[in-house]
Amino acid sequence: MWHITESVPRDYAVTATALETERLAQPPILVFHAVEGIGVPVVTNLFAYRERIAQAIGTTAAGIHRHWAEVSQSLIPPVVVAHGACQDVCLIGEQADATRLPLMAHFGEDAGRYITSGVVVAKDPDHGWGNLSYARMQLRDRRTFGISLHSRGHLWDYQKRAEARGQALEVAVVIGMHPAFLIGAASRVPIEVDEVDIVGALLRHPVELVPCRTVDLSVPADAEYILEGVIEPNERAKEGPFGEYTGYATDRSTNNLFSLRAVTHRASPYFLDVCPGASKDHLSLSSVQREADLLARLRQSLPNVQSVHYPVSGTHYHCYVAIDKKRPTDARHAALLVLGLDPYVKLVVVLDPDIDITNESDVLWALATRMQPREDTFIIDNMTCNILDPSSSGGASSKLAIDATRPESWAAARLTLPDEAMALARQIAQARLSGDV
Ligand code: MN
Repeated sequence: MWHITESVPRDYAVTATALETERLAQPPILVFHAVEGIGVPVVTNLFAYRERIAQAIGTTAAGIHRHWAEVSQSLIPPVVVAHGACQDVCLIGEQADATRLPLMAHFGEDAGRYITSGVVVAKDPDHGWGNLSYARMQLRDRRTFGISLHSRGHLWDYQKRAEARGQALEVAVVIGMHPAFLIGAASRVPIEVDEVDIVGALLRHPVELVPCRTVDLSVPADAEYILEGVIEPNERAKEGPFGEYTGYATDRSTNNLFSLRAVTHRASPYFLDVCPGASKDHLSLSSVQREADLLARLRQSLPNVQSVHYPVSGTHYHCYVAIDKKRPTDARHAALLVLGLDPYVKLVVVLDPDIDITNESDVLWALATRMQPREDTFIIDNMTCNILDPSSSGGASSKLAIDATRPESWAAARLTLPDEAMALARQIAQARLSGDV
């Protein structure tokens, strides 16, 4: 964790520093203690390092998919308690002023200052099911934000149904909480499953909630900040452009309007920012869950699939798969399954189990030495894709599959070193890296 005590400008500096640290093997959590015009510490980069994501949910990076599959089978519902630190300070009605929140601009192309880490709590207007989800929120004035539901998830569905009856949809925005809360909120579960039950499963204890002051919802008692309010029916407010996960600014937005009713926060809060754009912080926050789900579904058809990975460089559009082939055609079969199961994926590369699919140099080396373009690739035209891909048209894209596994008949021997030599080399290197020599 880096404590940054020097003064930095309010806009862009937090994002720039987070991106600067991405080249490090272990990108640190950043705590800015002196952002100009902001009187509270700003925390970012929480999710930029995969081992830290694993730690937050009680496992290791190597075991994270198996852990996710196990834990998400045993949901733990929350409990409601009377008091919570998130309501140490309550600013209700006219006292609630969004312009006094510690918000910043992230990229030069952004339309304004944004909340990037906000987890939106809402209730299904027909069934009462709970929901957690993410929505980018652009500050407009003291009492309103533009909010985009463009991912068309459960919150979008709730809002459409409330709006059809002319009703405002009550929501509460959670800013800053245990990282497992943000990881659970990014999970993809059926509409009737409340993501907060996944969070409980990840934490292995029920999330403690407190009732909101102005809306009929409950929020995590330990959160740093809560914004209570409603998404207005039949009103729209221009929102965007904003730096999306693709690495491009986009004004694709549902342009909904959030009206603020209350701000509550801890007595001495930290403000959490998720670095937006195609950052490790942003992309890694949702890739573990997607990988675990995809792996489980692939294994239903091909139990010899060993692991899957969405590399940060591919912004959710590239997928690497490791398989222990039992038949020469298994790799192509796996590739076709991935393209069918995840419409975001545009390039799938299937690799042998000796390749570390989380290491892009290793993946490219396999492409260089085990793949023949004519025999080992295929393209499928006119498939569903994610509409934010700037190279796509009208939500359609062609897809490329590459079999980078080696043929069974292959004689080339991969170079190896004896285990003792490798262990000695690690000792020599580690001693110098830690400054012991
Ligand atoms: Mn949901």
